[in-house]
Amino acid sequence: MDIQNIRKDFPILEQKIYGKPLIYLDNAATTQKPQCVIDKLTEVYIKYNANVHRGVHYLSNKATDEVEQAREIVRNFVNAKHNHEIIFTSGVTQSINLVAQTYGKQNLNEGDEVIVSQMEHHSNMVVWKNIADENNAKIIRWDFDDNGELHLSDLQKLISPKTKLIAVNHVSNTLGTINPIKEIIQLAHQHNIKVMIDGAQAVKHCKVDVQELDCDFYAFSGHKTYAPNGVGVLYGKKELLEQMPPYVFGGSMVKNVSFNEITYGDLPFKFEAGTPNYFGNIGLAEAIKYIEQIGLDNIAKYEDELLKYATEQISNIPQIKIYGTAKNKSSVISFLAEGIHPYDIGTILDKQGVAVRTGMHCCEPIMTKFGISGTVRASLVFYNTLQEVDVFCESLKKAIKLLS
Ligand code: PMP
Repeated sequence: MDIQNIRKDFPILEQKIYGKPLIYLDNAATTQKPQCVIDKLTEVYIKYNANVHRGVHYLSNKATDEVEQAREIVRNFVNAKHNHEIIFTSGVTQSINLVAQTYGKQNLNEGDEVIVSQMEHHSNMVVWKNIADENNAKIIRWDFDDNGELHLSDLQKLISPKTKLIAVNHVSNTLGTINPIKEIIQLAHQHNIKVMIDGAQAVKHCKVDVQELDCDFYAFSGHKTYAPNGVGVLYGKKELLEQMPPYVFGGSMVKNVSFNEITYGDLPFKFEAGTPNYFGNIGLAEAIKYIEQIGLDNIAKYEDELLKYATEQISNIPQIKIYGTAKNKSSVISFLAEGIHPYDIGTILDKQGVAVRTGMHCCEPIMTKFGISGTVRASLVFYNTLQEVDVFCESLKKAIKLLS
């Protein structure tokens, strides 16, 4: 991979922050956008901006075609069997809420259980806690070990005749752990349990094949996948989606409307009420084309190299403790420097042009488990370089010296 050339595709990376070259290591929060995605949005604005799925005129037909082509590109990206198994949402949070408020609401009875891993982002935990409370069901915590790994043997023990669903992320946004979702799904299905996979951090790092995984539900976001903000995807198996009632009501999701009776539209439109974020949908397809052109295998290989190098370099700094040391990890490194608040490190790194995340990363149960109030998180992707890792580590050493 020619990283220097790839970096030229991301105009934002060229700038200086406080006179220092920007080193963007907050990619788990959101990724930067390549020029082709920015150009695609401009193309829609200047050539065929029109509301979709309802016009007879050229612009509307063109925009509609682009959105439906985008759905096909997403289908192919995750290898779903049918186009209508791809529901466009506003992001992972909305995708999971959709499943909880429809499948969850319908299927969770009093006393039923939802197993939620301890490393979930709040969006795959709070949502389940809320619907479980509403339906008098329970959520059961699946703990991870000190390295940040989940064990199938623990899951096996938690499964009971009352278990209806397991909620787990493919890749942890805080610990970087890549979870064995294929084995989790297999085990769940042996007990007739459905699985909600949060793929927010995964699809940009490794190839996802929902048919091979035999996924029930899989969610991901555009903004963490080099695409615009405000767009996401829910993949669901056709048989499940068909049984689920609509979630948001209004225009576009209906077949016939009278004051006596309403019939709802077919998949996927039943779940896409209102004017969709067609800029986001079209931009997401462009981002997927961009990633596929580089190749997810190449991306994963290079990001693994970055992770290995950055982990070694950070570990060489005596005061540092890394949280999340799973064998199978993506390029996310959460850490603390002894006796120093993460916000202070983040603030000083910022002044040196280095953007990292600090805090709980919407994973308070992880912090509770480790007995800490937050971490500093550096998350790297394919446009980051080994040289950037060096500058980051030097800046980190300076910050620690200043703050100790
Ligand atoms: N799950 C994980 C693992 C995440 O990292 C995030 C974003 N930080 C979310 C869910 C929420 O995604 P979205 O912003 O698309 O709602």
